[in-house]
Amino acid sequence: MSRHLVVNPIACDGHGLCAELLPELVRLDDWGYPIIAPGPIPGGLEAHVRRAVKACPTLALLIREQRDGGGGRGGRGAGGGRGAGGSRR
Ligand code: SF4
Repeated sequence: MSRHLVVNPIACDGHGLCAELLPELVRLDDWGYPIIAPGPIPGGLEAHVRRAVKACPTLALLIREQRDGGGGRGGRGAGGGRGAGGSRR
């Protein structure tokens, strides 16, 4: 598992506070909305990331745990499969 910083673009108001608090991982686009650096949160920045997440006024900034490896879509083995029940006829 690794932790990634993500932003909910619907909740984000573009205050830019996160970029001020965490310039190592966040930069702003031309409209003031955050662009998060790809990849897991570096270990040395965890505390700063948590502080930025707490400071976000709209709770748009989130830490998401993600499984390492396997492409990250998490579809394998998750319920259902082919032909489980319904036929279209
Ligand atoms: S602090 Fe929150 S609302 Fe402001 S730009 Fe960052 S994610 Fe968006």
